[in-house]
Amino acid sequence: MGAVTMEQLGRLGSAQTGAYLHPDIETLPRERLAALQLERLQDTVANAWAHVPLHRRRLDAAGARPGEIRSLDDLQRLPFTLKTDLRDEYPFGLFARPVEQLARLHASSGTTGKPTVVGYTGPDLSNWADLMARSMYGAGARPGDVVHNAYGYGLFTGGLGAHYGAERLGAVVVPMSGGATERQVTLIMDFKARVLCATPSYALAIAEVAEQQGVDLRRSSLRVGVFGAEPWSQAMRSEIEQRLGLKAVDIYGLSEILGPGVACECEAQAGLHGWEDHFLFEVLDPETQAPVPEGVAGELVITTLTKQALPMLRYRTRDITRWTTERCACGRTHGRILRIAGRSDDMLIIRGVNVYPSQVEAVLVGQPDIAPHYQLVVGREGHLDHVTVEVEAAPGVADDRFDAIAHGVVRHIKSMIGITTDVVVKRPGEIPRSQGKAVRVRDLRPKEV
Ligand SMILES: [Zn+2]
Repeated sequence: MGAVTMEQLGRLGSAQTGAYLHPDIETLPRERLAALQLERLQDTVANAWAHVPLHRRRLDAAGARPGEIRSLDDLQRLPFTLKTDLRDEYPFGLFARPVEQLARLHASSGTTGKPTVVGYTGPDLSNWADLMARSMYGAGARPGDVVHNAYGYGLFTGGLGAHYGAERLGAVVVPMSGGATERQVTLIMDFKARVLCATPSYALAIAEVAEQQGVDLRRSSLRVGVFGAEPWSQAMRSEIEQRLGLKAVDIYGLSEILGPGVACECEAQAGLHGWEDHFLFEVLDPETQAPVPEGVAGELVITTLTKQALPMLRYRTRDITRWTTERCACGRTHGRILRIAGRSDDMLIIRGVNVYPSQVEAVLVGQPDIAPHYQLVVGREGHLDHVTVEVEAAPGVADDRFDAIAHGVVRHIKSMIGITTDVVVKRPGEIPRSQGKAVRVRDLRPKEV
């Protein structure tokens, strides 16, 4: 027997105290993870080539047929898949299984045109539940916990994704869905929920309604928040943690790839572990599509490794993030997405400066005299985009102070982001509250055709 390293000791110790739901895979050495990925990539390419005409045509043209994938570097030769491919192949053209062999369909409503439809086999659903359970456990949820699930149920993957993950974990699920916020507060208190699943903006709406009802959620049984489905800032995290009295972790996913549970923060809250046994993550320069070095921002591109019904080759997510394989304090070996800055589709270009709504959020949240609710209204003046930031006065702030508050916010945005905006201060409650994904941008620019 060779000497046991400190690292191995630490890992064994953690596993014995139950730090991981799937200790063998979550702490798998990276070279063994890579070997597993190659094997699964070959299977995925074979599945896509054999069963999806679009993928077969593109793989043939790229010289990347199943037998030609010999190393993970060959990933670079695979063609990209775009969201428009899903729309063009509506509804089932990208499925690698006949629809009668599927167990479930989900769909997301596009703002324009046809919805994006995704399908799952029974084993796909089982993998999804495993990944959600692993994610929630990493966030601090435990078997036996009451999990209050306020993600919307239905065609949106958030509700059922969290639901089956919590069940797989052995937790007690309250399938609340979004809306009826006063009742959410009552049931969180009466059922003694320990875990809250919601979009971050809706978590904040729940906190606000609780405060109006005179309920102090900081004294409730809530300890863990698993929040995702929209980009949110570190400032918003602090605000939510303080008002709900829990530890808030960021979870990431998208229906085209799986749904929630593609990546999730651990209790270290230092970026989201991307589950590399099921997905290959790349971060690419959005212009050139060349890989960027670790730690540099670019577009997240994901290849699925185990999906039967809907294998995805190099799916361009449009999400802007950074990737690191630096060892996390938790001991997991899976790389991390360093929080999503925003979706490239949501990026605003204000007088030549690229701005994500979450950057504005980071400036607004925590400012005295304003509530953490906001919207950006984008219009056009001549050929230039113009942004008006609508913020909301905190309860109890007098109307005659609104002008001074607005001037202060203008100065802060200018100094922190470098853009000039108009700021309008609204009365408490005037900014619409979300019950799911928050609408952060109202785009009044004329539509280009
Ligand atoms: Zn970690």
